[in-house]
Amino acid sequence: MTQPWTSDELEIVTCDCCGHRKSSAVYRRPDGLDVVRCLNCGLHFLNPRPVAAAIGRLYDSAYYTSGNRSIGYAYDYASESFRPIAAEVASNRLQVLTGLMPLEGKRVLEIGCATGEFCAAARKAGATPLGIDLSGEIVDVATRRYPSIAFRKDTAESIAGTGQRFDVVTAYEVIEHVPAPASWLRASSALLEPGGRLVISTPNVTRAEAVGPDNWTGFNTSLEHLYFFSLDSLMSMMARFGLAVEAVYSQGTGLLTPEPVSALRAVFARLGLLEAARRAKHAFLAPPPYSRWNPGDQLHTLMVIARKS
Ligand SMILES: [Zn+2]
Repeated sequence: MTQPWTSDELEIVTCDCCGHRKSSAVYRRPDGLDVVRCLNCGLHFLNPRPVAAAIGRLYDSAYYTSGNRSIGYAYDYASESFRPIAAEVASNRLQVLTGLMPLEGKRVLEIGCATGEFCAAARKAGATPLGIDLSGEIVDVATRRYPSIAFRKDTAESIAGTGQRFDVVTAYEVIEHVPAPASWLRASSALLEPGGRLVISTPNVTRAEAVGPDNWTGFNTSLEHLYFFSLDSLMSMMARFGLAVEAVYSQGTGLLTPEPVSALRAVFARLGLLEAARRAKHAFLAPPPYSRWNPGDQLHTLMVIARKS
């Protein structure tokens, strides 16, 4: 595959969790970069990795919309045809949260809000949401879709600096993209009132062993990911910033979709028929149990809810 960086745009990094320099290679990805495991604390990360400027180029305006199988989203995330799917994903995430606590009257910050469906669902549940994203283009889409909800291009770090505080901070599929997750977690924790909740989801690296690293989507798609967490590595990093895990859920198998199936899905997506095809399938086949959020860390996408002390 063609790399979106040159060989002199790679840097060697130390472990972001413990600062240790020594690591062992775990897997070579299709882009030729190695996932390593810290020999001291066990955190998995890309090393060497593209420098910040090269990573920044991955998140251009086409990130959400390219339909690229290796980087960004496989479908045009901002299209109207994807909207019902984004809404269903958001609704399932929200149900996990409202199962633990009522959102009525709560201030909710969503980091990585994309097209805004989670904020819209949170508002229906009685919360006052603010959605932020690094992509100005996607923030514009969210604002057009839900004009009465506040969305803006911003970062957790800059809002933390203003002293603004929230009852709930959510970051679905964000931490694996962040160049320095420990300082990002520090900022996310600082955004919470005491007793507030941080909700994070991320691919579960223990699935690499469970399904075999060659078959695991976590190592073979979304090649912009820089970190690969397990429940253990996430919990130990969170503990440093006063975040105690109170609930863990997971969903999905993490198995790579066979190429013909993903090609067919891409065709349906281009024709705007993805949701119709999915409905037709569900009319005959009930969604499998792993498609729901299940308690525990056995499945592919981890969702961790932590309480700030
Ligand atoms: Zn380490």
